[in-house]
Amino acid sequence: MVVGGGVIGCAAAYFLKLAGVARVCVIEPDPTYAKAATPVATGGCRRLFALPENIRMSQFSIEFFKGEPDVQWKEGGYLFVVGAGHEKVLEANFRTQQDHGVKVELLDRGRIAERFPWMRNDDLALGVLSPEDGWLDPNSVLQGLRKKAQALAVEFLRDRVVDVYVSGTRVRELELASGVRVEADAVINAAGCWAASVAKLAGMDLPVNPMRRFEHYVELGKALPPMPLIKDPDRLVIRPEGRGYSVGLVDSHEPRGFNFDVDPRWFEEVVWPACASRIPAFEQLKLKREWAGLYDECELDGNMILGNWPGRLDNFYVACGFSGHGLMHAPAVGRALAELTVKGRYETLDLSRMGYQRVLDGVPYRETGII
Ligand SMILES: Cc1cc2nc3c(=O)[nH]c(=O)nc-3n(C[C@H](O)[C@H](O)[C@H](O)COP(=O)(O)OP(=O)(O)OC[C@H]3O[C@@H](n4cnc5c(N)ncnc54)[C@H](O)[C@@H]3O)c2cc1C
Repeated sequence: MVVGGGVIGCAAAYFLKLAGVARVCVIEPDPTYAKAATPVATGGCRRLFALPENIRMSQFSIEFFKGEPDVQWKEGGYLFVVGAGHEKVLEANFRTQQDHGVKVELLDRGRIAERFPWMRNDDLALGVLSPEDGWLDPNSVLQGLRKKAQALAVEFLRDRVVDVYVSGTRVRELELASGVRVEADAVINAAGCWAASVAKLAGMDLPVNPMRRFEHYVELGKALPPMPLIKDPDRLVIRPEGRGYSVGLVDSHEPRGFNFDVDPRWFEEVVWPACASRIPAFEQLKLKREWAGLYDECELDGNMILGNWPGRLDNFYVACGFSGHGLMHAPAVGRALAELTVKGRYETLDLSRMGYQRVLDGVPYRETGII
C-alpha cells in the first residue's frame, strides 16, 4: 500500500511494479492534487549537491527524466553564485561533484561577468555552473508517472488514510476515511506534508513540518539571452519559463503550518527588489501570477527521511522531509523504496545514511550544497 499519490507515491508504485510486486495500491484522496507540493514546484533538477547520495540520486533521476519526452526537460544549466567568505564551501562541493562525474565549471567574478554580462556581480566572489542540469514541468512528471504506474496495473484508491493498525512490529491494516479497512503486507508513507501525521498514527515521530513557499511568474518587456537557473546568496531563484521567468526566494524562518495564502507583500518587498538587484532588467518586470505551496521541511537537517524503523515498524517505510528536492529525486527514491520493500536492502545506491536512525540519534546528516 502506498499512502499518497504525489510524485513520490507514483514513483514508488511504478518501481514496485517493475520489481515484480503483484498488487500495488496507491491511496490518494485528491486526484486534482490541489494542495500537493508536486504540481506547484519550480521544476529545477540539479546535480549541484554536496552529499554523494544527493548527487547520485539526481544523476539517476535526471537520466530517467531525459528518457520521458512529455516532461518538457530543458537543459538550461544551473548557476550557483556566492559572495566573499563562501568560496571554500562552493569549491569543496565543486570537487565532490567532479569526483562523481558531474560536468561543472568554476567561474571567478571575471568569468561570471563575461558569461552573464546582464547580471550584477560586484558582490560575487565565485560561481559554479553545471551546464547539463535544468528544469522540467512538474505536473507533467506527476501525470506521466501516474500513467506509467496505471499502465502496469497499479490501483489508485480515492480515499484518505485515517488510522494505522500495528501488531507486534508490523502494520497490519490501514483504515480509510470511507470506513473501509485494508490489509497491508507493506506500507509506504509518501504523504508529503501530511506524512508526519500519518506516521504518528503508527507511533513514529518525524521532524517534518509544512513550510510555505511562494513561486512567482513574471515577464519582462524584452527577454534576456538564454540563461541557466540562477541561485544567488539571498536564496533567490530565477529561471526562464515560457515567455517569462519563474522566480522565488525561500524564507526558512517562515512559520510552519498548513498555510496556502499568498502574501503579496513578500513579492513586492522582498522578491522583486532581490530580482532587480541581481539582474537590473527585472526592475521593469510584470508580475503575471503567483502561488503558494508547501515544502515538507525536515527540521533535523533538510534531507529526506527514507526507510523503516527496524525492530519497531518493520514493514512501514517513510519517504518524506524532501525540503524542496522531492521532485528531482523522485525516480531514485521510487527505485530505493522498491528495493527496500522487496529485497529488504538497498541494491543500486546505499541510502542508509538518509534513514530514520539519524532521527532517533538526533544526528543531522546535513547538505551544504543548499545555499
Ligand atoms: C514552491 C515549491 C517549489 C519547489 N521546487 C522544487 C524544485 O525546483 N525541485 C524539486 O525537486 N522539488 C521542488 N519542490 C519540492 C517538491 O515539490 C516536493 O519535494 C515533492 O513534490 C514531494 O512530493 P510528494 O509526493 O512527497 O508530496 P505531494 O506532492 O504533496 O503528495 C503527497 C500526497 O499525499 C496525499 N495525502 C495526504 N494525506 C494523506 C492521507 N492521510 N492518506 C492518503 N494520502 C494522503 C496528498 O493528497 C498529496 O497528494 C518545491 C516545492 C514547492 C512547494
